[in-house]
Amino acid sequence: MPTTHVPAAAAVRNPEPIFRAARRGPSLAAASARAATRRNLLVAALASACGLLGGAAAAQTPEPRYVAEAEALMAHPAVADALRRIEALDAWSLERLIELTEIPAPPFKEDARARRFGELLEAYGADSVWIDEVGNVIGLRRGGTGARTVGFGGHLDTVFPEGTDVTVRQVGDTLFAPGVGDDTRGLVVVLTVLRALEEAAIETEDDIWFVGVVGEEGLGDLRGMKHLFREGADWPDVWIDVDGGGLARLVTMGLGSVRYRVTFKGPGGHSWGAFGLANPAHALSRAVRAFQDVADTLTRRGPRTSYNVGRIGGGTSVNAIPFEAWMEVDMRSESPEALARIERAFLDAVDRALEEENALRRDGPPLTVVTDKIGDRPSGEGDPSSPLVQRALAVTRLFGVDGVLSRSSTDSNIPIALGVPAVTIGRGGAGGGGHSPDEYWVNRDGHLAIQRALLLVLAEAGLAGPIS
Ligand SMILES: [Zn+2]
Repeated sequence: MPTTHVPAAAAVRNPEPIFRAARRGPSLAAASARAATRRNLLVAALASACGLLGGAAAAQTPEPRYVAEAEALMAHPAVADALRRIEALDAWSLERLIELTEIPAPPFKEDARARRFGELLEAYGADSVWIDEVGNVIGLRRGGTGARTVGFGGHLDTVFPEGTDVTVRQVGDTLFAPGVGDDTRGLVVVLTVLRALEEAAIETEDDIWFVGVVGEEGLGDLRGMKHLFREGADWPDVWIDVDGGGLARLVTMGLGSVRYRVTFKGPGGHSWGAFGLANPAHALSRAVRAFQDVADTLTRRGPRTSYNVGRIGGGTSVNAIPFEAWMEVDMRSESPEALARIERAFLDAVDRALEEENALRRDGPPLTVVTDKIGDRPSGEGDPSSPLVQRALAVTRLFGVDGVLSRSSTDSNIPIALGVPAVTIGRGGAGGGGHSPDEYWVNRDGHLAIQRALLLVLAEAGLAGPIS
């Protein structure tokens, strides 16, 4: 589940299949676009009132040439056919959602779901499918020239540990299951786009990689994407990610974070008998205090930045000097420089705390400290004028929705930080309870998000030659 500064827009209700609505002419589209703008303004106002809006997120208007390109694409007979097929595949998509959700994919144990996702990619149109060294599943659909590669993916992993009951429970039209929306629905969007392209016999200019990515959540620390975009790799030229949210949300800015586990260690001993030994708990407390003294100032102004001592632990008894004390700390910022500053402040505070506690010691050996970096997600901002972002805005508009460029922590963080155009689009429908056992997803016009994804992938990959 991405953490975001902008709440996902309310699910878009559009009872008309999009290709039919478009044929009615521009007046309806214009009216629904105006309505969507009003909705977005309301969402923005509410978010702002709740203090959730980080920075200058607002509905954006695409350049006219990209709007024209998107309209022409949607009017193409083969594309219109593919969009119709997505609607017709609605029941099949739901079946795949239930099937994949019920294959557990705990952190670092995505292999069973990966294998099945790979089989489905193979069965529904990929020219070749492989699983890479870290477990990402990649289905290649070859383009006419293959000059470029468009990466299109969702993440395989969930936050839920092994043994979690992942049976899908259906109540009315609502599906309840851990991971059903985050991000199994994203995988189904990817798969359904592939099948629709294949059924409509659409050929693209560029190659497309349909990807199931490992390690997006928590301590996975974006390891699947770090591997795809590792130094020296032949990585995709653009990345389109499906994760979280509805039609309006377009994540083009990565929220960076660093996470540490710090452990102070000493000999430990009796609280009375060994009094005078250096105390790891005291050192830990000093570190938190010294860090906050600086971190508070660093986060009062400038780019939005946060810090959190999330967990602390250690010790054995009230009358024992602990042999260790530890904490886990999360720091985030929308600016790479600000993130580096607060990280430095944290490491300095740990050093200072160690020195001070050791200076107070009356007896025994000095404390040591082990500093483990357990998370490192880069931040960065995509160029809003890049063709990918403009196309994402333009194809979203075809659905009467104004895209809102937002910042979040998703798989797109990695390409964005490398300067590779990337966007995370919503998986559609309506849902909630992410990262909780009560997670749910409702197929409320869910096909619209799949149609939008197909249009964006096609706009980037380009239609090859004339299609009859
Ligand atoms: Zn997710």
